[in-house]
Order: sequence, then C-alpha cells, then structure tokens
Amino acid sequence: MQKTLSAQYFIELEDKYGAHNYHPLPVVLSKGEGVNVWDTEGKKYFDFLSAYSAVNQGHCHPRIVNAMKSQAEQLTLTSRAFYNDKLGPYEKFMTELFGYDKVLPINSGVEAVETALKLCRKWAYTVKGTADNQATIIFASENFHGRTMAVISASTDPSSTGGFGPYMPGITIVPYNDADALETALKAGNGNVAGFIVEPIQGEAGVMVPDEGYLQKAYDLCHQHNALFIADEVQTGIARTGKMLACDYFDFKPDILILGKALSGGVFPVSAVLADDEIMLSIKPGEHGSTFGGNPIACAVGMESLQVVLDENLAERAYNLGIIFRSRMESLIEKSNLVTKVRGKGLLNALLINDTPESTTAWDICIKLRDNGLLAKPTHGNIIRFAPPLVITEDEIKECCDIIEKTILEFR
Ligand SMILES: *Cc1c(COP(=O)(O)O)cnc(C)c1O
Repeated sequence: MQKTLSAQYFIELEDKYGAHNYHPLPVVLSKGEGVNVWDTEGKKYFDFLSAYSAVNQGHCHPRIVNAMKSQAEQLTLTSRAFYNDKLGPYEKFMTELFGYDKVLPINSGVEAVETALKLCRKWAYTVKGTADNQATIIFASENFHGRTMAVISASTDPSSTGGFGPYMPGITIVPYNDADALETALKAGNGNVAGFIVEPIQGEAGVMVPDEGYLQKAYDLCHQHNALFIADEVQTGIARTGKMLACDYFDFKPDILILGKALSGGVFPVSAVLADDEIMLSIKPGEHGSTFGGNPIACAVGMESLQVVLDENLAERAYNLGIIFRSRMESLIEKSNLVTKVRGKGLLNALLINDTPESTTAWDICIKLRDNGLLAKPTHGNIIRFAPPLVITEDEIKECCDIIEKTILEFR
C-alpha cells in the first residue's frame, strides 16, 4: 500500500496536518543505513546533513539499534523516583570518558542547555555568592542553542525571536569571536556574571570557526572573573569536528559541557550536562529534573553510541576525511565563481555561495544536489553545510565531492 503512494502525498499530509514550523527540502525519506538514506520511490542518497549531526555513527547503526531493542524489551522507564540498573553504569562511563565528576542526563539538546543555564545561575547564588536575582549570563551573537523561551531570549536571529516576547532577563550578548568584547562585558558585569555560554564552532550560524586563540582566551577571561565557561557541544561534540569534543583542540576543559544529538546516534533524544562537584552539586534533589531524563533506554543507547564512536575511531576518521573534503572544495573554488569559500573542522564544513543571503541560489543548488543523489540544506541563506555521517569512507567522500563539483559546475 505505502509503496504506491507518491512523495507528493506525504508532503501534502505534512502540509495539511502539521504545524508549519519547518521548510523541508522536497524529498520524502523512508529508510536509512550508514551514510545513505532512501526516498519512498527507492532512490538512494548520501545524507550530508546527518540530522544536524545527530547521526554521526550512521543511520540505524546495528549496535545502537540493538542496544535500544534489547533495553526496550527489558525496562523502558522508571522515572527518577526509583533507581534503575542502567543509569549508574552510564553515569560512571560518561564521567570517566569526558573527565567530569558528575553528569546530569536529560533528553533534547535545548533541555540540556536550559539545565546548564539553571546550573550556572544556581552556582552563582550558592557558591560564588551573587546577590539574589542579580546573575547574568553572557551569550555570543549569532548563537544557536535551541528553541525554548530562555534560549531564544539570547538569540540574535529575528526569526527565532520575533513575536515571542517578552524575553528572559539576565542576558548579555557579545559578538562571537571577540575576546575583547567578552572582557568588556565581564568587567561591566561588576562581579555578577555567572557564566559565558558558547558553541566552539557555531553550527547553525553557518559553521563559523573562531580565530585560533579565541576560545582559550575566553576561557581564561571567564576564570579571571570567576565566571563559568559553558561549552555547547550539542552539534560539535561526539567526534564531528575531528576530536571527541571540539574543545579537545585546546588546553582547557569547559566548566560545564553540554552534549546531545549524536549522544544517541540519532535513534532517540538523549542529552547530558557534565560538570564537577563544586558546580553540579549546587542543584539539590527536587530542584531540577525530567520524567524521561536518564531513562534506561537512553542510558543503553547513549553508552553504545559513544562506544561505537570509540571503537570505529570516528574522530580520527572525521579529522582525516575533513582535510580531503576541504582540499577538494578549495580546488572547486578555483574552477567556479559560484562558490567563494569553504570552512570547517573535521566533517563539519560549509561552502559559501556567491550570492546574497536573500537569494534562493543555495536552495536551488541543494535541489540539484538532491537530484544528483546528495542531501544537504542551506543555512543562513547562502551557506550550504556539509556534514555526512562520520562512518563515510574515503571512496565515498571522494564520490560525494564529485557530485558536489558536477552540480556546482553545471549549475545555471
Ligand atoms: C541542535 C542544537 C541545539 C538544540 O538541540 P535540540 O535537540 O534541537 O533541542 C542546541 N545547541 C546546539 C549547538 C545545536 O546545534
């Protein structure tokens, strides 16, 4: 029955019955395996979005799917009203792997960000000694941390904020990649700055890689001003940028680390906040939580997803294949004036299209890429992000570079 229904049928169903809060590329997917997805007509594609870097381990990774299946048959949810035999082992594994005293498990990326913001404020009031209701948190402009009220209150993207006011107070926004501006804001905060939250590479903003010394400087400045450095690695973490964490390129460990997306290999919403005791224990029983946070399936899936990343050396693979990808794109830039720049780290990369952000050129290129068997999506109008599952092989990445090159060179 399903097989005889056209793609248009499914598109119309979503359009008619679903809220219009997304603008998907017109392709209807019904199957995924590794680096590939298939549409309802059986056409195969390379997935170069990876569900915004949630499927770093590849679609339907058999080990992760099996971990989910076997846990689903055993015990799915207890709530945190009781202990379960999966949470403790998962917490031990997570904290040892990432080098923190404690982890707070939660579900979606934005919930982990909210958790980190609440934790940061609580630390300020209970440890740092900030006066009641005076704590501020500094954000970077062009950030993307999700879609809740608190998080959009710190957004500089009008489509995230417009029509959703009033916004949460206690937020200061400084330009990204500008340590001097951060220092000025920390000083202006008169000791009330609780923390600074930043994406080590801004994903949604168009894969903005900061200058070499920026993050280290930002970390040092936070510490000089007794403020926490919070890294949102929901998109950059779990091997995407060529290391387990993007912050692993530097000599510091964030005070609060936020993970999501690929923490579950894309099979299930699993996110986490990590911090040491001095920070994490400032939240006491009953002060924060979630019914599904730390559920047995999430723990089984999270552990297996990370184990797959380690066993398959996905960080090293992303590092090496990223170099190949960017050098192929550099040579494409020589041959075409439609593309002007490639930037990124590991397998989180973006190609800048030579047109205004208001133009439809990047979208139109993505439609042609789709026709040629590769799925990617524009971000910020004239930027195309390329982020395949990290299980992609060298031959496949070369084949994909051929597809991108052919599409760009043939584009009218
Ligand atoms: C996707 C993303 C989020 C939000 O994650 P959701 O699971 O969509 O809530 C937060 N921060 C960053 C950096 C992200 O890329």
